[in-house]
Amino acid sequence: MGNLIDLTGRVYGRLKVKSRAEANDSCNRPMWLCLCKCSAKTVVRGASLRSKSTQSCGCLQRYRAHGHPRTHGLATKGKPDIIYKMYHNAKTRAKVNGLDFKLALTDIVIPSVCPILGIKLYRHNKSPRDNSPSLDRKNPNRGYVKNNVHVVSYKANTMKSNATPKELLKFAKWVLKTYGSKTKASRVPRRNS
Ligand SMILES: [Zn+2]
Repeated sequence: MGNLIDLTGRVYGRLKVKSRAEANDSCNRPMWLCLCKCSAKTVVRGASLRSKSTQSCGCLQRYRAHGHPRTHGLATKGKPDIIYKMYHNAKTRAKVNGLDFKLALTDIVIPSVCPILGIKLYRHNKSPRDNSPSLDRKNPNRGYVKNNVHVVSYKANTMKSNATPKELLKFAKWVLKTYGSKTKASRVPRRNS
């Protein structure tokens, strides 16, 4: 154990070794500062890294324990964080639909207001409502990649559905023709009320 191997730059599971930690462990063995894939920092004994007994900041254990990888480390106990939930669901949808998935958790930003409808966004724990935040692909022909996703209201996302920009424009033109250009015009009557 006494031999000093420089682990800097090496990757162990989800961890990348950034540098030697300032302090050694209680047995005076070297510790290493690591960056986890979930972007959390952690200090790990070199022996634990090399034996692969430690491969994450702890997010991997949380994943195994709960079946939901809450890799960003911000989730509260027992409740998957909403951003992680969106990320995880998007990843699943991408897989099912054969779409690209190149997102980091930090690419998902929830604004306070829906950028399309201007309504305030709220998180609802059970089924989504009109003002629930919802991850949308701006261009439905592209996958879940950095500049193609944004968070809008569930209502706006439902309205858009899988429409292409071209179809949306046609739709908008139809709205304009049918309901006039006055934005203060009365609401479009609901189909089922
Ligand atoms: Zn982690």
